[in-house]
Amino acid sequence: MSETQADANDVREIRINPIVPSESVLVATARSMRPKKAEELAPRDTRKHVETCPFCRGNEHKTPPQIMAWPDTLDKSDWNIRIVENLYPVLGDDRAQAGFNFGLQQTIDGYGRHEVIIDHHEHGIAVHEMAESHLAGLFGVYQARMRQLFESDERLKYVLIFKNFGPAAGASIPHTHSQVIAMPVVPVNVDAEVKNSAAHYGKHHHCIFCALIDEALTFEATIYDRASGAVRRKINVGQYVVERGEKFIAIKPFASRYEWEVHILPLAHQADFLDLRVEDLSDLARVLKRTMARLDAVIGGAQYNFFLHSVPHDGQQGAHAHSYHWHLEICPRTSIPTGFELGSGLFVNTINPEQAAERLRAVTL
Ligand SMILES: [Zn+2]
Ligand SMILES: [Zn+2]
Ligand SMILES: [Zn+2]
Repeated sequence: MSETQADANDVREIRINPIVPSESVLVATARSMRPKKAEELAPRDTRKHVETCPFCRGNEHKTPPQIMAWPDTLDKSDWNIRIVENLYPVLGDDRAQAGFNFGLQQTIDGYGRHEVIIDHHEHGIAVHEMAESHLAGLFGVYQARMRQLFESDERLKYVLIFKNFGPAAGASIPHTHSQVIAMPVVPVNVDAEVKNSAAHYGKHHHCIFCALIDEALTFEATIYDRASGAVRRKINVGQYVVERGEKFIAIKPFASRYEWEVHILPLAHQADFLDLRVEDLSDLARVLKRTMARLDAVIGGAQYNFFLHSVPHDGQQGAHAHSYHWHLEICPRTSIPTGFELGSGLFVNTINPEQAAERLRAVTL
């Protein structure tokens, strides 16, 4: 086949994000449509312990003040997870006038908090290598800290928990860590999800996230015999399902902004991450670990961000309890945005989300 001929399997369509319709993605899989440069795989620092690393065990005195440790034992160097103040906060209690840019040019007054969670005592461990019990503990720590922050200051409307892995994803310290930013405004992308899902609920009386999960789970494919037209086989494909646990599901969004983007959601409706029950943490940990292992097998070493999106505590959380659904967005950065994307705000995804899900599912764990 010549370069100019289009492959019959090529897809070129604009997909509208069902939750945030203003956000659309151009899915363009033809070779000639590949505008992005592949991002270089970051050589991963796999060392277990680094003498000079302030986040490694034994160097506790080198970090900013500790906020929390898990488990909280008498031996202060025996921790598995620690939360410390951020040395270079974008927000600080003491900088009343310091505005900062968050996301889409949203400038807010600088009261709030910025903290670092040292995810694991092992320096270079990847999420898919962490024990399930450890990951359950980590999400328990996220939850405990989020609750404390909301209770500490009623002006705080949102607690964003996120992780950057690799330099292109914004991680400045190689030791595995995530971050907490507690802020007096709701980030614009979360706000858009909250408002649009509330509008959907107003019209259809159901949560759009739950509807998307149902759709992902019940998708049915019919295979016809090409010659006779008779139905050969009917199968439940779960086209967008990457991983399914008892309480959680990992799905590939229909309008994925990033080629390997995957979202993890609770199967039963839940708006607030704070309502996640302790007994369900292990299933979340299992689904996350298996999803990250699939991603590692397909795009090993890729840099990524993950973001926890939960209903804002802005006084409206009761009104949004039925329409919003908390989730974890995992966004691997396998390509660099082009001028076209930055200028148009339209994401270009060069891998068909259905095929990406298929490849992730095909990994044998
Ligand atoms: Zn370290
Ligand atoms: Zn829901
Ligand atoms: Zn979200």
